[in-house]
Amino acid sequence: MRTMLLTTLVLIIVLLLTSEATANPTISIGWSEQHGAAEVSAEFISWRNGQQIVTRNIPDGASLRVALVIPRKSILNVESKAAAIWMQHALQPVWATRIVRSGSTYALMLLGSEQEAKIPWEMDTCFAEWTRGSTNTALSITFDTGETVYTLDRSVLLKSAIRQVQIGAISFRGDIVFNPNRSNVLTSINVLKIEDYLRGVVPNEMPASWPLEALKAQALAARSYAVRQFGKHRQDGFDLCSTVHCQAFAGASSEHPQSDRAVAATKGEVITYGGTIIDAVYHAHSGGHTRNSEYVWGGVVSYLKGVAIPEEPPYTWTRRITVLEFERRIRNIAPVLFVLSVNINSYADTNHVNRLTISSLSGNHTISAQQLRSAMNAALMRSTKFDILLYDRYLLPYRATSRPELFALEVGRVGGIFHGLLPTQPAFIEFVGRGFGHGVGMSQWGAYGLALNGENYQGIVRRFYTGVRLTKAW
Ligand SMILES: [Zn+2]
Repeated sequence: MRTMLLTTLVLIIVLLLTSEATANPTISIGWSEQHGAAEVSAEFISWRNGQQIVTRNIPDGASLRVALVIPRKSILNVESKAAAIWMQHALQPVWATRIVRSGSTYALMLLGSEQEAKIPWEMDTCFAEWTRGSTNTALSITFDTGETVYTLDRSVLLKSAIRQVQIGAISFRGDIVFNPNRSNVLTSINVLKIEDYLRGVVPNEMPASWPLEALKAQALAARSYAVRQFGKHRQDGFDLCSTVHCQAFAGASSEHPQSDRAVAATKGEVITYGGTIIDAVYHAHSGGHTRNSEYVWGGVVSYLKGVAIPEEPPYTWTRRITVLEFERRIRNIAPVLFVLSVNINSYADTNHVNRLTISSLSGNHTISAQQLRSAMNAALMRSTKFDILLYDRYLLPYRATSRPELFALEVGRVGGIFHGLLPTQPAFIEFVGRGFGHGVGMSQWGAYGLALNGENYQGIVRRFYTGVRLTKAW
């Protein structure tokens, strides 16, 4: 009886521990921008050196310098001659070098110095190239007190025991690992709990001043997206990147009490369809109606269906440029010459332009709205839901006053373009559009409008993702 009770007790403890372990999974977020130095504001820090984890006492406010250390009289294998020349230049103040060719690769011979060379971490891109294949190099972590620790496996873990690890001006929850990615470029990786990760995502994807229910819907979309895309960057040594390619993440420094509340109130909640976590894509503004996934990415997805969102506050954008500028930009995708008119010739769903035709002296050219959007700068031309307006040089609506085909003939005959012979041309082209982004899944402004209308986050999520359920994953 006593044994059984003990076994049950142990089982309960194990179960509790296990549920704690899966309660909030760990995720790793990586980036490889240049940082310079890692500032660590913690009294204690652990780092991994091979298999060994060492805990050290760091003076309060001390900063860590990360640099590459090359043992003296070593030979560095370099990918290309250009990289060797670059390195030679970088090492010049410290070291005499000679470039040696060995087969298809190059090596840099370091000559006659008694000291080790320290290359600042800012040069991480080059570090990548020239350390490939070399076993004589190491990353160094140097405290500004002068104490230096080397790690020979080039993988460093910073673990802050008391406060958050800080890199540059940004502080992070969890641990920071420095590691080379698949291209051997040094990356910083933040290893942290998913819920902590979301605290650094939600305020970067939606203003923290927005209604709480909209922020909760954003937390669900971001959490589902993170779980679904988990391991997207596995080959780089982390799960997701910190940019909009995955989800915008800016560490603990960007957290806000209101978005923190939204994350905490929905802890572990994800969006599922048929028992599987959905690909919860989202965008800024749908222009009143979201889109079916197949119109944008080609594949039919049952829960990504276009829905009307009259609650979305109206939003229009205008992109007006001169026709000369338009010609210059469009020439990369179509051989236009002296544009005479631009017309929409077909629509996809919900008034999104599918294809348009540009008439010019070199003939008619048909392009897709998607092509036009990227040629015009997708950030300024915010969606494919637009009308086209043409203006003359006084910014009055443009009307063609001549028959272009006659002039085209004339140009061909004389073999050159003469101003007097040319037909009239619009001076400005204007795109007036609605919506911002791809239009699939949740519209963030739509979530905002729905929340203002008193809708809760469950209602908002179900409105944008057809036939889904909300499930607690942890
Ligand atoms: Zn990414």
